[in-house]
Amino acid sequence: MGHSLEHKEFASNLLKQLATATFVLDRDGRVMIWNHSCERLTGVPASELVGTRDHWKAFYSKKRMCLADVIIQGRTDELTNLYPVHAQPSIHDAVHAQPSIHGNGYKAENWCVMPRIGTRLYLTVDAAPIYDEQGTLIAIVQSMRDNTEYKNAQSRLEELSVTDELTGLHNRRFFNEHLNTEWARGIRSQEPLSLILLDIDYFKQYNDTLGHVAGDKCLQSIAGVLQRSLLRSSDMATRYGGEEFCLLLPNTTMDNALIVAQRIRSTMARLDIRHKTSSVSNAVTLSDGIACLKPSLQDCPTRLVALADEALYEAKALGRNQSVKGLLGVEL
Ligand code: GH3
Ligand code: MG
Ligand code: MG
Repeated sequence: MGHSLEHKEFASNLLKQLATATFVLDRDGRVMIWNHSCERLTGVPASELVGTRDHWKAFYSKKRMCLADVIIQGRTDELTNLYPVHAQPSIHDAVHAQPSIHGNGYKAENWCVMPRIGTRLYLTVDAAPIYDEQGTLIAIVQSMRDNTEYKNAQSRLEELSVTDELTGLHNRRFFNEHLNTEWARGIRSQEPLSLILLDIDYFKQYNDTLGHVAGDKCLQSIAGVLQRSLLRSSDMATRYGGEEFCLLLPNTTMDNALIVAQRIRSTMARLDIRHKTSSVSNAVTLSDGIACLKPSLQDCPTRLVALADEALYEAKALGRNQSVKGLLGVEL
């Protein structure tokens, strides 16, 4: 008896000192243990919570279940509403544990704005039921890790991989993915999809006379013009290559795309970025090719790019600083 009591005390002390933030609920959902790391993580002392069912207050400003409550109450069908990411750990995760202990455990992740300390943390949560020798549920253990830094780094990486660093526009990689999505949507909606491919005129001379830094600034200014020229949330501007840009305009006819292209060129004229070595103007100008297709299963989105590219080539050949409509792929 004394031996078993010593054991319990040892276990409880161990939990309290554990570097991982951990709390234990009894089978009625009342806090039994709220360890020191948990106090540090949430800013709420154990003395406020032990014996209560108020542990949610440490994580949320409005009442809701924690992962441990979900398990006690057997409401795992609500996990999807409560957590953006959740899973039942596989046997492999629990390889060192008794299957009966980890059998109904769950993992979940979510953002919490800790009400007491006001910081927003991305928490990775594990919760598992504890059974006695007779198989009766006696407690639930929930532990939390702060994964905020990792999550933020991951989001930044995801963002970087779809964004062009210099201009902040989308990059070609993202454009290709997005084009496929819009193409598929166009097949369903039967609406025309337009693409404007733009290229700076005599940009090599611009760099050669004013330097690469000025060239980069010019690219940024043009990116701003393109971004502001988009009227609908479904329109998208991309830095397609070094000094080439494109605009993808869903549900837009060739003639409406031409209006957008002409508006961009007149904005460029007003912006009047000095370019003395250009053979077509005293300021930086753009040439563009416009393509418009009604997406269909018989056609492919790369043809939209090819048609715009041909039209752009023609705009250059015709003397630059102009918009050229490509061949209409399909009668609209
Ligand atoms: P065209 O009117 O036929 O388009 O002539 P161009 O000189 O604009 O075309 P060309 O393809 O000969 O040269 C493109 C230039 O764009 C060459 C390169 O120095 C410049 N360029 C490409 N990417 C960047 C960039 O990221 N920064 C800067 N500053 N310049 C770039
Ligand atoms: Mg070019
Ligand atoms: Mg060029």
